[in-house]
Amino acid sequence: MVDLLVKNGKVVFPDCTIEADIAVENGKIVAIGLRGSMPRAEETIDARGKYVLPGGIDPHTHIANPFMGKSPDEDFFIATKATAKGGTTTIIDFAIQKKGKTPMQEVLDRRAVADDKVVIDYSLHPCVTNPTPENLGQLKELIDYGLPSFKLFLVYRKEGLMVDDGALMKVFELTKAYGGLVGLHAENVGMIEYLIDEALKKGNTSAIYHALTRPPITEAEAVNKAIYLANYYNAPYYNFHLSIKKGVDLCRKARNTGRPIYAETCTHYLVNTIDDLRRENGINFICTPPLRTKEDQNALWEGLADGSLSLVSSDHCYFTSEQKKTGKESFDKVPNGMPGHEFRMPILFSEGVVKGRISVNRFSEITSTNAAKIFGIYPQKGIIRVGSDADIVIIDPKLEKKISAEDSLYGMDWCPAEGLNVKGWPVVTISKGKVIWDGGFRGKAGEGKFLKRVLDPELFKYPIA
Ligand SMILES: [Zn+2]
Repeated sequence: MVDLLVKNGKVVFPDCTIEADIAVENGKIVAIGLRGSMPRAEETIDARGKYVLPGGIDPHTHIANPFMGKSPDEDFFIATKATAKGGTTTIIDFAIQKKGKTPMQEVLDRRAVADDKVVIDYSLHPCVTNPTPENLGQLKELIDYGLPSFKLFLVYRKEGLMVDDGALMKVFELTKAYGGLVGLHAENVGMIEYLIDEALKKGNTSAIYHALTRPPITEAEAVNKAIYLANYYNAPYYNFHLSIKKGVDLCRKARNTGRPIYAETCTHYLVNTIDDLRRENGINFICTPPLRTKEDQNALWEGLADGSLSLVSSDHCYFTSEQKKTGKESFDKVPNGMPGHEFRMPILFSEGVVKGRISVNRFSEITSTNAAKIFGIYPQKGIIRVGSDADIVIIDPKLEKKISAEDSLYGMDWCPAEGLNVKGWPVVTISKGKVIWDGGFRGKAGEGKFLKRVLDPELFKYPIA
């Protein structure tokens, strides 16, 4: 007798999809087999006609992270509950070093607000914003602590997050020595500040100028520099929220020569465009990098399909319309960011698999497996395999409904993909063997655990995901 049996579903593996049953005990997958060959279970779920996939991994969320003077109206409980509803069973959030704290203190402070609240497993990327020798001296300690991936900001000088190219070199040197992964918010701060100043001088303050003052060159230059530096140090590199065609081309070229260059794009770049900034509520769509053109969007889909891009994150960062409005006088005052983790999986399934852009196996890679491999939680997470955590999502490919902020567990007052027709929704989410969503929430705060991660040494040699 096992704890749980998921029967009759189409189980998605990296290289095939097979009708099979999955047995779960003590939070782990203990057997995968053909119908009728499995032990009896305390609880059985019939997944006939549905896909059974590894639970989603979203390696880029900003939960309850104050920014530009505003604090999102959420905590790790409501946020991870909504994540679970959306079919995601692991998130990697950020510990963005604040003034007067060390990166390690920031990690401990984030854990203090998250550990008792999370309903799914989670981890953090430390962000160094004040690269003093003392703070950089903690990189090794952070890696040993189980947080081997870092994010640095090349922008947000005024907001106090930016580091310069010298610090970036130093971080490459140190992570090279200790075995860490450098990730960047790659945009060119000098170009953007110049273009914003020019726009404001001319009185160009509406939302569309957010995108027009961050044209593709400002991102392409920074992505190019990052890849160049990674090559110089013979180190791996992770590009957060890639949004442009030129960026896809740069990653493709680097990976074609065997370099371990990894990039994610985000859900909103795949369904929203620069035109959303021209809407009446255009300021809501302000995020960085900005929304781009249809041509960029097509290139991102191509990059996901051909393996130039590794995965899709949400970059969830929720501000209400009211909070966004504090910047209504000028685009540069609007708190950046959009909500997204709750709808990442259904949007990608519908726009990707149902529309024929990617296979269901590739969907599984870009929503789960590749994040696990890159960030050092594979094969504990990211795959349906005997011995792995029983983090499982069941998607009903026939269920069809429109995205609506009203459906969100948050009670969001707006949503970037509002009105998008989505076919294929997560209907059951299982975290470590326990059903935590099946149309209603069955999890508990604090049942998620903080994950200590260890990078795969192969990650440093060639693209593993
Ligand atoms: Zn972000």
